[in-house]
Amino acid sequence: MRLANISNRLMLVTQDDRVVDVSQQTDGRFSPNIQECYDRWDELREVAGQLDGATGKPLSGIALDYFASPVPHPRQVFAIGLNYAAHAAEASLAVPEDLTVFTKFATCLTGPYGTITLPPGTVDWEVELVAVVGRGGRHIPKEKAWSHVAGLSVGQDLSERTMQASGPAPQYSLAKSFPGFGPIGPLLVTPDEFEDPDTIELGCAINGEEVQIGNTSDMVFSIPEIIARLSRVTPLLPGDVVFTGTPPGVGVGRVPQRFLAPGDELVTYALGIGEMRHQMISQT
Ligand code: ZN
Repeated sequence: MRLANISNRLMLVTQDDRVVDVSQQTDGRFSPNIQECYDRWDELREVAGQLDGATGKPLSGIALDYFASPVPHPRQVFAIGLNYAAHAAEASLAVPEDLTVFTKFATCLTGPYGTITLPPGTVDWEVELVAVVGRGGRHIPKEKAWSHVAGLSVGQDLSERTMQASGPAPQYSLAKSFPGFGPIGPLLVTPDEFEDPDTIELGCAINGEEVQIGNTSDMVFSIPEIIARLSRVTPLLPGDVVFTGTPPGVGVGRVPQRFLAPGDELVTYALGIGEMRHQMISQT
């Protein structure tokens, strides 16, 4: 099953790439607010199977401006640092023995297309697979963790490196939470849609030049491992977001270093999910 948030309405994307308004087609049984669907995930999955033949516009005909994040208002946002060994190496940091966790404050979340305002400093890119929690819980065993994941999407963990590195301890959460620093989209895709949800290619390009390419099979902690370890500490809630870490190729690890500049177009993709497209603009 694939979902989208179009004109701030929950849409099912059918097998033949049409978009069906779930609230309209169920006579209001489901709210048009996509965030609320994660609280009734099992019920939605049942209903969605019956809606696949419903009438709807072609996905390709929808103007990009209408797409919003498929998970716009999560109660908790987790982000995992240093989750690919080659990225830890380019950051001159050790591969962690347990999760390195920070948050991206919820006001930084945005949709898959549009402009992102660059604050002063050095803004870097980080393509990441995003996992969204369906069924919540605590002490979720690794073996059952995939059944707690509603779906996967693509994200960018944009990061202002000057702030991140200032001070005696890394300032991850704040430096990664300027408005627009957490784009997610364009679709939310359930794990069963992938041949292997632990092996997904992802990457990003600036002005057409590929800067990151990776595969989630190289994660230090797989998505089931992340869900298990996070839920040992923190109850996971339906609709929570997990940014799962970035593969190598970020700007801070380059010689010379490179950062996003006004006018740059950043395209971010994961195979089986789609691509996001953002233009960088300067702060006026
Ligand atoms: Zn990251």
